[in-house]
Amino acid sequence: MLIIKCPYCGDREETEFSYGGENKKRPADPYSLSDKEWAEYLFFKKNTVGWHNELWNHSHGCRRWFSIERHTVTNEIKQSTPSQLSMEENI
Ligand SMILES: [Zn+2]
Repeated sequence: MLIIKCPYCGDREETEFSYGGENKKRPADPYSLSDKEWAEYLFFKKNTVGWHNELWNHSHGCRRWFSIERHTVTNEIKQSTPSQLSMEENI
């Protein structure tokens, strides 16, 4: 069982969390992007082998978003930090 550290609650089992995908920086002005650039932001993911910055939600806990740096092969987690997303947007 993968143990994930929520920056607000501490270590918990992975069943308490929902994966939110790659932690990409949202474009500052989405309206200035072409349709192709916007589609690339929304739909194209890196599929990284190695260290990957990801968004997670503690959906069965504090319900807050945070980011972790996880190795996609070994599932080792380097760090867990509060997400800018949870501070700026309520999703
Ligand atoms: Zn939590």
